Amino acid sequence: MRGLSFWAAGAMAISIGVLGIYLRSSMLPSASLVVANFFVLAGFILTWWGIEAFFGRPLPYRAGAVIFVVAAVGVVYFTAESNSRLRIVTLLGSFVLLSVLRVHSMLRDLRPSTRFSQILSGMTLGTQSLFYLALALAVWSLPAVERPLAQLPILGWIFLIPMLLSITVVFAAILLVNQTIAARLQEAARRDALTEALTRRALDEAAEIEVARSNRHRTPLSLLMLDIDHFKLVNDQYGHPAGDAVLRRFATATQACLRREDLFGRVGGEEFCALLPNTPATGAALLAERIRKAVADLVIEVDGHRVPLMVSIGVATLGEHGKAWQDLVRQADAALYAAKRAGRNRVVIADAIPLPAAAAD
Ligand code: GH3
Ligand code: MG
Ligand code: MG
Repeated sequence: MRGLSFWAAGAMAISIGVLGIYLRSSMLPSASLVVANFFVLAGFILTWWGIEAFFGRPLPYRAGAVIFVVAAVGVVYFTAESNSRLRIVTLLGSFVLLSVLRVHSMLRDLRPSTRFSQILSGMTLGTQSLFYLALALAVWSLPAVERPLAQLPILGWIFLIPMLLSITVVFAAILLVNQTIAARLQEAARRDALTEALTRRALDEAAEIEVARSNRHRTPLSLLMLDIDHFKLVNDQYGHPAGDAVLRRFATATQACLRREDLFGRVGGEEFCALLPNTPATGAALLAERIRKAVADLVIEVDGHRVPLMVSIGVATLGEHGKAWQDLVRQADAALYAAKRAGRNRVVIADAIPLPAAAAD
């Protein structure tokens, strides 16, 4: 999972930096205070990058580097001038900016599975940035600060709040990671491990929804039932692992012919289904023919031998061949059986005449 190492490194850098800021008052000179400030700044940037990485976006290296350099120059300059007030305002200003950027990263792309944890994280990070802003304004309006910020009576508790909010941020992040893992596992459970096609159960569930939608909006819905011809021979001649590889090639080639909204599932060993929303029987038959041809044209070699692959396809359409999902399956299955009987390597529409035989290729 991308981004988590950035979060860990960022949290570590912030901890080291804050510790450094506290320790320097009695033990360390101002050069190490600057270094401690750099650590906190780098930590904020790393956590921002972590969020971007987590959501699979490219890291904003340049923007991060610019913010770091500008803030770092300010920190060094005001430290040299012994103006701790403006040094702190510079630092807090960059925290506000980076917190706003983190909120933006967190909420930019709300995903159904992680909505709650994203909003919780975004709200907490947003509240944090408000407190950094309040703190910056307070420091700005106060006389020059000689002691560590957190030791000032008025500022002490304002300083504490973003720290306490960090605990919520951590829990929100854990929740976000958890929800992401749960969503991935759920998605993985819907897919067949060998071909990545939907499992029979996932297909059945999705199909019920498609059938209901199609009946309600009166849009056409077609089903292709595909069964590889004489697949047993592939296993017998080249072995089971080669058979598996052929199945994968078949699934990839078939899916390449489908649209994004089409559902592709594996319903048996070498038997597959493609459910095609918004597709009437004629369109489905054309697509089936394209798949049949694509499969026949596949060049598959095992141990230097070309393995010929062919598929028979049955087509059924909602309305024309029944009203329920099970009707559609039964009709497409009957058409598939008819295609097998008629000599295989062909497309048959349910209750219709077989398409011209594909003997030519
Ligand atoms: P037909 O043209 O009538 O469909 O003949 P067929 O040989 O394709 O059909 P049959 O149902 O007799 O055989 C299907 C074969 O598919 C039997 C089984 O060994 C093989 N098979 C099923 N699942 C898998 C799998 O996951 N991997 C491999 N390698 N083979 C599988
Ligand atoms: Mg078969
Ligand atoms: Mg079969």
